[in-house]
Amino acid sequence: MKLIFERGKEGRQCTLLPQCDVPAAEIEIPKRAKPLRLPHLSETEISRHYTELAGQVHGVNNGFYPLGSCTMKYNPKVNEEAAALAGFARIHPLQPEHTVQGALEVLERTEEMLCEITGMDSVTMQPAAGAHGEFTGLLLIKAYHDSRGDHKRTKIIVPDSAHGTNPASASMVGYEVVSIPSGSDGCVDLEKLRAAVGDDTAGLMLTNPNTVGLFDKNIIEITSVIHEAGGLNYYDGANLNAVMGIVRPGDMGFDVVHLNLHKTFSTPHGGGGPGSGPVGCKAFLKEFLPGRQAVCEDGTFSLRKPEHSIGDVKSFYGNFLVVVRAMAYILMLGKEGIPEAAQNAVLNANYMMEKLKALYPPAYDETCMHEFVITLEQMKRENGVTAMDIAKSLLDYGIHPPTMYFPLIVHEALMIEPTETESRETLDEAIRAFGEIYAKAQEDPEAMHEAPVSTYIRRPDEVQAARKPVLRWSFPEDGEQK
Ligand SMILES: *Cc1c(COP(=O)(O)O)cnc(C)c1O
Repeated sequence: MKLIFERGKEGRQCTLLPQCDVPAAEIEIPKRAKPLRLPHLSETEISRHYTELAGQVHGVNNGFYPLGSCTMKYNPKVNEEAAALAGFARIHPLQPEHTVQGALEVLERTEEMLCEITGMDSVTMQPAAGAHGEFTGLLLIKAYHDSRGDHKRTKIIVPDSAHGTNPASASMVGYEVVSIPSGSDGCVDLEKLRAAVGDDTAGLMLTNPNTVGLFDKNIIEITSVIHEAGGLNYYDGANLNAVMGIVRPGDMGFDVVHLNLHKTFSTPHGGGGPGSGPVGCKAFLKEFLPGRQAVCEDGTFSLRKPEHSIGDVKSFYGNFLVVVRAMAYILMLGKEGIPEAAQNAVLNANYMMEKLKALYPPAYDETCMHEFVITLEQMKRENGVTAMDIAKSLLDYGIHPPTMYFPLIVHEALMIEPTETESRETLDEAIRAFGEIYAKAQEDPEAMHEAPVSTYIRRPDEVQAARKPVLRWSFPEDGEQK
């Protein structure tokens, strides 16, 4: 495909402005030495360019996208309409409060609904992503211990089945990370947890359901062990769509939680944002929250800075329009729809896991939550076909690969999350594709290394692509480097 600079022709454009009917004035301002080098294209050429570009990516609008731990589900288009309303999209964060009452109401009401869903007492919308929420939540935990003069708590316990961002966030806040291994059942090893806690424990970060798709059955015991040692419990609720409306982190002994609105509460996020990672906390942490909280008094909304705020973690109120989408989604599903979405997410995952089981063994053969992990260790040993080969083959069936080689505690892992919005027919089609790929892997394992054969880009050198990405294009007259 040609780059936009390689298309078109000097002088071509897609705007037709009327001739200037007043004398042109010379303005004394510094000017560019050379004219700006912009592409010269007609509207049709621009339109074709972007249509061709769009055809090179795979999104939920193209087909099945079972990317575990990422929740690539259908996002109701009506949310986009809500987020595009001028009263939400065309306002400025510095506008006087009385002119943006509706927007403040969105913040206040969404906070209330997220409190209800998580069992927390207060929520900040400022963090822009899940990992950002983790960072914010840990700062709350640190502020709490500091406020009590309890400075000896320097460690955060993180099970090895946590999302990779958990230890990274703890480390960014300055905590020492203590990793706890999982038992053979994929859950936290309680004995090892007990051995790890002490008066230097600031808290625990638990991803639940964890990265192997399991709900930790000892959750109450886990949170009590931490509380008894004087630590606080942090719940990574990025994947709350497995449990929302059914159980609440606040009822399971957690003090702080983050949610990923861009996974669970329907904001498209394939391109990397914008996202939103609200953080909820129990009342005793409320005064440490960042930013400003929308509050309502006598029917009037205003913003209030928490008294001992940790300070801003982002400008203004976070990615507000993502919050608008979340509110639209929650209101549309309502009290019955929220748990139903969770049940369907779990049902779809278990359906696929059971149907694939005979050919693709699950890493942990237990009832899963919204996602499950299979391991291709045996296939690799027997005929050299890897998780990567299977993932790449799926592309030829119009299916986006599942998450690969994650979590690290499972070898040759594929992590599959069908999501609640896929139909039985789509799941059956995917199951059939997995079956055909399995048969091919038996018949001609060598050919599997060639997949995909039908995509625009086949198998890039992933190391080179990550380490030496070509992000810049030079004009031919500027030299060879492209
Ligand atoms: C996606 C995810 C995160 C990180 O969220 P980002 O918005 O990508 O920063 C953290 N924890 C879990 C369990 C996740 O699935």
